[in-house]
Amino acid sequence: MPTENRTTLTPDTPVRYLKGVGPKTAERFEKLGIVTLADLLCHYPRRYIDFSKPYSIAEAPADTECVVKAEVFAKPGGRILPGGRRMERITAGDDVASLEITWFNNPYATQKLQLGQEYYFQGIVTGGMLRRQMVNPQVRTAEQIQAAPFEAVYPQTEGLTSSAISRCIRQLLPHAELLPDPLPPEMLQKYRLLPKAKAVCAIHCPATEEQAAAARRRLIYEELLVLQLGIGRMRSRGAAATGAPMRRADPAPFWQSLPFAPTGAQRHAVEEILNDMAGDTAMNRLLQGDVGSGKTLVAAATIWACIRAGYQAALLAPTEILAAQHAEGLNRLLAPFGMRVALLTGGMKAAARRTTLAAIRNDEADLVVGTHALMSEGVEFARLGLAVIDEQHRFGVRQRGALAEKAANPHLLVMSATPIPRTLGLLIYGDLDISILDELPPGRTPVKTRCITGKRRQDLYRFLDSEIDKGRQVYLVCPAIEDVPDGGLNAVKTYYEDIAKTLLPDRRVGLMHGKLKPKEKAAVMEDFKAGRLDALVSTTVIEVGVDVPNASVMVIENAERYGLSALHQLRGRVGRGAAESWCFLVSDNTSEAVQKRLKFLCSTTDGFAVAQYDLETRGPGDFFGSRQHGLPTLQIADLMNDTRTLHAAQSEAAALLAADPLLESPAHALLAAQVQQMFDKAGPMN
Ligand code: ADP
Ligand code: MG
Repeated sequence: MPTENRTTLTPDTPVRYLKGVGPKTAERFEKLGIVTLADLLCHYPRRYIDFSKPYSIAEAPADTECVVKAEVFAKPGGRILPGGRRMERITAGDDVASLEITWFNNPYATQKLQLGQEYYFQGIVTGGMLRRQMVNPQVRTAEQIQAAPFEAVYPQTEGLTSSAISRCIRQLLPHAELLPDPLPPEMLQKYRLLPKAKAVCAIHCPATEEQAAAARRRLIYEELLVLQLGIGRMRSRGAAATGAPMRRADPAPFWQSLPFAPTGAQRHAVEEILNDMAGDTAMNRLLQGDVGSGKTLVAAATIWACIRAGYQAALLAPTEILAAQHAEGLNRLLAPFGMRVALLTGGMKAAARRTTLAAIRNDEADLVVGTHALMSEGVEFARLGLAVIDEQHRFGVRQRGALAEKAANPHLLVMSATPIPRTLGLLIYGDLDISILDELPPGRTPVKTRCITGKRRQDLYRFLDSEIDKGRQVYLVCPAIEDVPDGGLNAVKTYYEDIAKTLLPDRRVGLMHGKLKPKEKAAVMEDFKAGRLDALVSTTVIEVGVDVPNASVMVIENAERYGLSALHQLRGRVGRGAAESWCFLVSDNTSEAVQKRLKFLCSTTDGFAVAQYDLETRGPGDFFGSRQHGLPTLQIADLMNDTRTLHAAQSEAAALLAADPLLESPAHALLAAQVQQMFDKAGPMN
């Protein structure tokens, strides 16, 4: 019995009741998102070490992790190295070659090894044919391998290694039946899927490759079904009658009030939107356009038409900086028509918040711009007719629905710069209609992008200085404060001081990061916008939406740390005016993959090409990171590769929901709970 002071285990029993799991370990498990026994059983391995096909010493690939089978030839014992490190060494060999194996600071490593016995050593073989070596390998006996030929490798965290996780999971596997199977038996039969408990045992401790594959297939299917059910349920509002019927508006007065003409693409998108909003069913539209294509103006025209028709509108933005910018910009456009704009953010003082809430409730605010705070309780609209969501991929799918629930089926417009492949689009957006801005406002010159190493920093600052001389402004982006432990990285504050004191000593430099108070953020942004700052040192909080057309240079430090889509977004902060603009990707990382990725960004300014490349190469924070699409993080399924299962799950989910739209039948209770859990975890991205 693996418990200490509980006799009955349930899936909800906390992991700390497991033998060998103290409070510290429990805390580390929590970092991996593991709180209960069910969580632990469902912490699936990332890959396996296959002990069943060992190499001979001569054939073992050099410098690659592998398993070697060899006999212990000599066991001379350990010694202490200068500096106090302990070292144990043995010589192992087979008919052809020998292998020198060393362990550091592991006095027990060789204790159980017997001279003349064969063992399996897993590690990296280095050195030439004459002196092959291995350091700190894992050792297994033939019996051990017979019992478990594949060893699971788990996502680990500091202080909690894969093998420690493995030990905990193995003591639990005899209790795998604890996990109820959410899939109905007919479904298991139809798709020839393993029952849950069997699949869980097999994924952790497979006897054969086929068993591991069958377990994966079952668990992937389950995960995708739950995902589809969750999305499908939110979508069920779909083609319902709108609660905000409107007459078809003529946007001419709005267009005439602008200092410039809308692009053809903007006009076209607005026509599509106005047609939607004049129909009987609620609009459900995605506006997709690359960074800088002018999505805000389309939103403004839509909001204008909605207010004209006698309704309120709401605009949701992912950051306070962006919300403040939108409130100000939209106020400039709408105030001439007597329309009243309010701003609601989480950082507001209680009194201001009360006043704003009252205005929203009493129909004294026509447009409310805000962050997540917009979706909180207490926000009640008098007559919400339209919800607009900017940078929608930054929000969980659930939040997208939450704003629309503030009224009886208002029209919904979501905006994003991230182009997505069709299959995934259908999955995420379902039956959303799509408008595309495929034309940039006139007079833009493409941003020139260059990769440089830190060595050229002096040249870079000379260049920044000369740009500032011309009256331009610059952004310098570097990793967040939280990132400090990682040695050579520029934490934003130190970086800021360097720049303000030594690199650009005669310039006005501002500092922006997520930990600033909302008021401070607003003040810094205001100063930068008004030209009172020449340079803005910032974390990626300015990644989305920020619009300061006079800024012409973007410098991104440690560029290798960001996915291409994020870099493209950051680059989109410049090149918004007529001036020639530059983006410098600074990186000292010489890895070929990194260099190739960054070079690619230098070669194109087309967001679609960037997303495509991201998709194919899948670098850090890639397209399928939830930051790019707002879906819950998946544990085992892969949206790109498991497309066949995805389709099967999609049709099963549709059938299930058709019969039981809210998953209320007792037979679906477990599935409903899983859906809840998956989407609860998918919180806001900021
Ligand atoms: P995004 O699509 O990235 O949200 P924005 O809406 O922020 O782009 O617009 C980028 C910039 O282009 C803004 O400074 C905006 O004022 C300007 N802009 C938008 N539409 C036009 C237009 N038709 N003509 C000239 N400038 C425009
Ligand atoms: Mg925008």
